[in-house]
Amino acid sequence: MGTKSQSREKVTSTATRQLSSSGEELNLFKIAQSQLDRAAQKLKLDPGVHSILREPMREIHISIPVKMDDGSVKVFKGFRVQYNDARGPYKGGVRYHPDETIDTVRALAAWMTWKCAVMDIPLGGGKGGVICNPKEMSLGELERLSRGYIDLISPLIGPEKDIPAPDVYTTPQIMGWMMDEYSKLQGHYSPGVITGKPVEVGGSEGRDDATAMGGIYTVREAARHLKIDLKRATVAVQGYGNAGSFAAILSSEKFSSKVIAITDSKGGIYNKEGLDPQKVLQHKKKTGSVINFQGTKKISNKEILELDVDVLFPSALENVITKENAPMIKAKIVSELANGPTTPDADEILYKNGVFVIPDFLCNAGGVTVSYFEWIQNVTGNYWDEEKIYSQLDKKMTKAFKDVLETYLKEKVDMRTAAYMVAVQRVANAMKLRGWV
Ligand code: GLU
Repeated sequence: MGTKSQSREKVTSTATRQLSSSGEELNLFKIAQSQLDRAAQKLKLDPGVHSILREPMREIHISIPVKMDDGSVKVFKGFRVQYNDARGPYKGGVRYHPDETIDTVRALAAWMTWKCAVMDIPLGGGKGGVICNPKEMSLGELERLSRGYIDLISPLIGPEKDIPAPDVYTTPQIMGWMMDEYSKLQGHYSPGVITGKPVEVGGSEGRDDATAMGGIYTVREAARHLKIDLKRATVAVQGYGNAGSFAAILSSEKFSSKVIAITDSKGGIYNKEGLDPQKVLQHKKKTGSVINFQGTKKISNKEILELDVDVLFPSALENVITKENAPMIKAKIVSELANGPTTPDADEILYKNGVFVIPDFLCNAGGVTVSYFEWIQNVTGNYWDEEKIYSQLDKKMTKAFKDVLETYLKEKVDMRTAAYMVAVQRVANAMKLRGWV
């Protein structure tokens, strides 16, 4: 980075720095901006295009009043960040999390822009968030919060403007309420405003396991490139929510790989002979965690990342692979089902050590790709079967992986930078063709 762009960053950046004890930047939006800067430099991107892409186009900050079950009123802070819509309506999930921040939502909105572009689907990027702890809220409180969120952002969303979806701690049921609220405000049924809905109210077949399924297709392609036999491969899964649990199940069912370790927010389990991911999921549903699953040893969230496995799925939250633990990562393939699990310093270390990273906005793009299929079905009224969903998803994921791999081999950059180069160039072209620059 030259001094010119650094000084521009000081003037225009809205993000505050957030350093780890070892001086590593952990503010997700700063991270997203520095990843973009790197790709911009490689692409010799026009400075005007670059500065547009460094910031969200629009941010909505809201205060949502919710009547709580005890009769009190609580006000929740929420956000919707509309990052870039050069290629189509803004698209991206809504997170409910006690630690949500505007900078996290900004970063995730930027990553949605790159995700839709790398997949070559005609959508832009956006993200939403509400600072709340859904684990401490009743269903009624969650419903009132979700309807209140939509009431406040409704003038700025819609099937042709901005289409929210599920993300961390938001569910198909929540999407059903959100779609209903928007439809009531419009005065007609409007399923295309939200994706990730239950199938009975306009949701798509295959949306549940779409994120993991998409990731699985990219792992298959990565293994083909690296000549790894997935039938003999060992797998570790950090995070056992929607993406992580399906990734474990699909690795074992589709590839016959051996899943040897699984963790969730409470701890983890290890068995070198292999675990049955379905049974582990049943155990988690019953007890609230994967821990204490019979016949296993304990393993921590930190230890699982350093296991000597063929495939590691970081499937929980951001910033888990840092410059501290990156030198200890032994996995051959790191498939990032979570958003933002690896810091830029860690990226450099992994690249030098020959660890093959399938970057988040490529690896976990199956979710938004099936959301795109759902939106097509909603606006056309023509619904697809599961077979069509999976075959179209496979086609899209395989093509995106190949586009990125080609740039990776040609430009001799890490896979993340390659994915950025493909995505940013597509968004930049759209901006130019629309006459924005
Ligand atoms: N929240 C998911 C993501 O980060 C899905 C977004 C969507 O379906 O719009 O990709």
